[in-house]
Amino acid sequence: MTAAGPPPVSCAAPEATHVLTVDEARQRILNLLPPLTERETVGLYDSLGRITAHAVRAPRDVPPFDNSAMDGYALRGADIPAEGQRELRIVGTVLAGKPYDRLVDAGACVRIMTGGVLPEGTDSVIMQEDVIRLDDIAVVGAGHKTGNHVRHAGEDIAQHDLVISAGKRLGPADLGVLASLGFTHCEVVRRPRVAYFSTGDELRPVGEPLSTGCLYDSSRYTLYGLLHQLGVMPIDLGIVPDQRQALRDTLLRAAAEADVIISTGGVSVGEADFVRDTLGAVGEIHFWRVGMKPGRPFAFGRIEQAWFFGLPGNPVSTMVTFLQFVQPALRHLMGEQRAHGHRLRVPCITTLKKAPGRMEFQRGILESTADGHAVVRSTGAQGSAILSSMSKANCFIVLPAECGDLPAGSLVEIQVFTLL
Ligand code: AMP
Ligand code: MG
Repeated sequence: MTAAGPPPVSCAAPEATHVLTVDEARQRILNLLPPLTERETVGLYDSLGRITAHAVRAPRDVPPFDNSAMDGYALRGADIPAEGQRELRIVGTVLAGKPYDRLVDAGACVRIMTGGVLPEGTDSVIMQEDVIRLDDIAVVGAGHKTGNHVRHAGEDIAQHDLVISAGKRLGPADLGVLASLGFTHCEVVRRPRVAYFSTGDELRPVGEPLSTGCLYDSSRYTLYGLLHQLGVMPIDLGIVPDQRQALRDTLLRAAAEADVIISTGGVSVGEADFVRDTLGAVGEIHFWRVGMKPGRPFAFGRIEQAWFFGLPGNPVSTMVTFLQFVQPALRHLMGEQRAHGHRLRVPCITTLKKAPGRMEFQRGILESTADGHAVVRSTGAQGSAILSSMSKANCFIVLPAECGDLPAGSLVEIQVFTLL
């Protein structure tokens, strides 16, 4: 799909039996994927959630002029009395957008509203609550400082400042910052096209009745949500039965349409053979053993110009492997600089069950105590088919491979979903 295809590379693990850590597997993927180079110019509204293609420098100062931070009186600092009071003549009024275009002399002041341009001659504002007004006279007391309540030109953003770096995901404040600088458009990285499908003879689409032994396909919906939230173009290829030809046709169609292909299911030991054969026939796919729970097995490779991720079928495993590998890969592909998020350490207020051996991504709820401290608790049962645990959770509790059962009160590392 991309104009210039990525270089031919091998994504094979060094040895088939080698178990990669989660970090090694992610790093290996990031090393292989070259970021997209195509850019497009979009209107400001459409730039929300997109990734900037280059750094943005300020073409002008924000604010563009010195202005008042308060409703009050603009005057010369030299006219503020050191003690006692002073009477100043009120010579005019400044409203936001309606400047006073004459010089304000010594002994004079102007009534000014928040955002009003500071008239020539003045350098200070006194709040209206601190002034006694007698017709066209303002009585000003001591104790005010020169320069008070003035917002200076360029104090938010100075001309030529770097305001937004390359590879930044644009949020609501960024749209405002760009608008404050007068930009109508923004250059962003092209959205990757991501084709996804579920495999399994037992899967039915919602809207159809369920016969015995069948279940509704949930993963295309979780994947749609995850992809949509990332700002890529999701391409839903439906449910593919456990048949060689159907899988092969779908993979080839996906490779022709997309930059990235995601399949779910069909890679576990019982079914692996025909999936492996089919994948092997259409592309270069490697099955990686990653020391994580949930999440095994996991396939990664290429089919023509598209990158392929074969995620495990259990619905929680699908989401965990997506969030640990596919999401950072897609963010990297889009040129996003912060391609994966922070981990925080917080006390866990419930006991956690874990057998040493693999890194675990348990589902947690981060919350605050009555006195404002962050704590996390388990969502409860942690089976890889318990998708409701992901719905209850707002974070993963990440337990290292060697860790065993933990008593309540243990410090644990978490990945908050919104920061992932
Ligand atoms: P598999 O990896 O294909 O062996 O699937 C593992 C388990 O996950 C099986 O119990 C499947 O029925 C279930 N599963 C696979 N794909 C989906 C899906 N898209 N939605 C819901 N459950 C699924
Ligand atoms: Mg299956």
